Amino acid sequence: MALTETPVVAGSWINGEAVKTGGQPFAVISPATGEVVSTYALATPADVDAAVAAARAAQPGWAKAAPVERAGVLAKLAELMEANAATFIAEEVAQCGKPVRLATEFDIPGSVDNVAFFAGAARHLEGKASAEYSADHTSSIRREAVGVVATITPWNYPLQMAVWKVIPALAAGCAVVIKPAEITPLTTLTLARIAAEAGLPAGVLNVVTGSGADVGTALAGHRDVDVVTFTGSTAVGRKVMTAAAAHGHRTQLELGGKAPFVVFDDADLDAAIQGAVAGALINTGQDCTAATRAIVARDLYDDFVAGVAEVMGKIVVGDPHDPDTDLGPLITTAHRDKVAGMVSRAPAQGGRVVTGGVIPDLPGSFYRPTLIADVAEDSEIYRDEIFGPVLTVRAFTDDDDALRQANDTDYGLAASAWTRDVYRAQRASREIDAGCVWINDHIPIISEMPHGGVGASGFGKDMSDYSFEEYLTIKHVMSDITGVAEKGWHRTIFTKR
Ligand code: NAP
Repeated sequence: MALTETPVVAGSWINGEAVKTGGQPFAVISPATGEVVSTYALATPADVDAAVAAARAAQPGWAKAAPVERAGVLAKLAELMEANAATFIAEEVAQCGKPVRLATEFDIPGSVDNVAFFAGAARHLEGKASAEYSADHTSSIRREAVGVVATITPWNYPLQMAVWKVIPALAAGCAVVIKPAEITPLTTLTLARIAAEAGLPAGVLNVVTGSGADVGTALAGHRDVDVVTFTGSTAVGRKVMTAAAAHGHRTQLELGGKAPFVVFDDADLDAAIQGAVAGALINTGQDCTAATRAIVARDLYDDFVAGVAEVMGKIVVGDPHDPDTDLGPLITTAHRDKVAGMVSRAPAQGGRVVTGGVIPDLPGSFYRPTLIADVAEDSEIYRDEIFGPVLTVRAFTDDDDALRQANDTDYGLAASAWTRDVYRAQRASREIDAGCVWINDHIPIISEMPHGGVGASGFGKDMSDYSFEEYLTIKHVMSDITGVAEKGWHRTIFTKR
């Protein structure tokens, strides 16, 4: 459908209302069909200024609201999100090509649960110390909202990534301006609209939609925000950090991953095979924690490769609206072509394509699940983030070699170890450098526990109480308890008045 055939709708939410901003019209395209889903007006840097000003004006009042009031709004938001689940699911399937089963059972309930968790956590914020650490003073700690948060999110889990950034900030008393990916703004806009229905005051949550180069840079480098949080690629995260650093602003970065999946020789092979396929293919492999590097004990290697290839061969690729579909398309044809290019170069670097490596004859940007064995340690497919339905496999000789290979990456977001031996499991969880290590599973997340990486995967945490550290400042209040004019310590400055 031509751009001119769809009405141009508001693509931003500023100061409590939908705003048809001044930028060019932009079409959201279904990756499953190539058809236009919706056309909206892009924001401009001037709209970013307006959104930040609205957040700045609204934040002090929101921070002063009693925790029970903020918790009440978030609890209502969780309730309304559940009531509007069908809208969120339809939008996520349309703009991402996400299989409806995944959106229904993972994206939307996970997002609702995260909001519900922070509705509770908003009432548990407390300072740590109240004591006389000096004989003449009482010290206490106040944890205060940091102010205005700018956040920038990716296209792979649009609603979940927005929720992970926005909700702890709101719970802490901050106001937020969020820029979703230009190609997937729909669920973030619905979240803002529903948050207003839940009673969130105007200006506390604002959405500006446009490209990273335009709106993203304007937001990340905005003088009048206090913190910049980001989820996306490592390369862009570093640009965002540089832009924020120009004003000395704090950043939190959730970046790329290249998760190892280590199968020891005592592992339950069937469980490891199932886990590898699920861990590699979730969200068509467009998951920062996806299993991408299977590192397998030599004795199990051939059976593991054959088992994974067999399960991958049965994966149903196709229409994301069909509940029987396992694997949807990649986000764009450009991204599909990037994945296909990496796979096509793998054999020249020693990799053996065991299954997949094929673009199916379907409209949209689909790609068959792909397994590449015998990859070289220095090959592109083994080292770089693919972000597609592709699992690579290498063998290891002993436990030292397995853990060395697991850590042989710049990334450190997630990893898993498959073993029935408690000592091996303990060693792997201690020695693998990653923000999360699963034992005998790969992928599950939970609102109560933190998510965030090390190294090239970034720093800081989403989810759980730990994420509050990104949105709070710590203030020491020291009160004199002697009531005298001449304090004991004045002797160090002068002896007589
Ligand atoms: P991306 O290209 O880095 O984009 C992420 C966001 O940054 C988008 O909103 C993008 O805008 C914006 N952006 C691009 N250039 C910018 C700039 N110069 N200044 C400010 N903002 C800019 O990442 P993606 O392709 O959307 O997402 C995939 C990546 O996200 C993968 O690397 C994946 O591992 C990572 N990820 C990490 C986590 C985690 O928790 N660690 C979770 C999910 C995804 P536009 O796209 O609109 O131009």
